[in-house]
Amino acid sequence: EQEVADYRRSLAIRISGFDVCRPVKMFEDCGFSPQLMSAIAKQRYEKPTAIQCQALPTVLSGSDIIGIAKTGSGKTAAFVLPMIVHIMDQPELEKNEGPIGVICAPTRELAHQIYLESKKFAKTHGIRVSAVYGGMSKLDQFKELKAGCEIVVATPGRLIDMLKMKALSMSRATYLVLDEADRMFDLGFEPQIRSIVGQIRPDRQTLLFSATMPHKIEKLAREILSDPVRVTVGEVG
Ligand code: ADP
Ligand code: MG
Repeated sequence: EQEVADYRRSLAIRISGFDVCRPVKMFEDCGFSPQLMSAIAKQRYEKPTAIQCQALPTVLSGSDIIGIAKTGSGKTAAFVLPMIVHIMDQPELEKNEGPIGVICAPTRELAHQIYLESKKFAKTHGIRVSAVYGGMSKLDQFKELKAGCEIVVATPGRLIDMLKMKALSMSRATYLVLDEADRMFDLGFEPQIRSIVGQIRPDRQTLLFSATMPHKIEKLAREILSDPVRVTVGEVG
């Protein structure tokens, strides 16, 4: 019975998502700033990938999203580009009150890749990005966070350490991305993820990306996302 209810719910989300946002065909359809458009051109991204066509308008509209797509499908830009728009929309950006965008990824390599990709787009608007993961000096990271940033890209464990050290405040974090959620679960990060989510205001926008969608991630998604639109690309999940 529960399974049937869950299935209906996921179907309804899918249908409502389909109705709410027509996929974009071009980056020009997204209403991006000239600075962002030139950063996209600099990356030689000619048109959005399949997941980007669906995810960009959905996320730009403010919806929570579950994005299911295999590696290499262009998920990073799908969450980074709307994050830049989200941040630029915030009033009193110049205040140093902690990150607005928080991205969690399973490994330091992935966090670093996302950090580099975010910086390419963020710097065009003077948005600061900090990377927070193991293998770097905690003191250096503490100092960097204290200096202020609008985006944090982190592995869950190290982010928790930094929160405990009060290196940053989550009070104005309103855009949370859980990237490669299935791998974070496989690595045992569920408690850390729940703790981080619990420290971010409930009126945030939440994005969850995963290559597969096992039951336990479906369950977490239902708990921490509000009316998410589900976007599935390819034969995954
Ligand atoms: P995923 O997170 O889904 O594994 P990535 O975001 O890492 O995928 O992107 C995979 C590769 O595709 C990267 O090299 C990225 O720069 C490139 N890429 C992303 N979006 C586009 C696009 N619209 N056009 C061309 N290349 C793209
Ligand atoms: Mg990725």
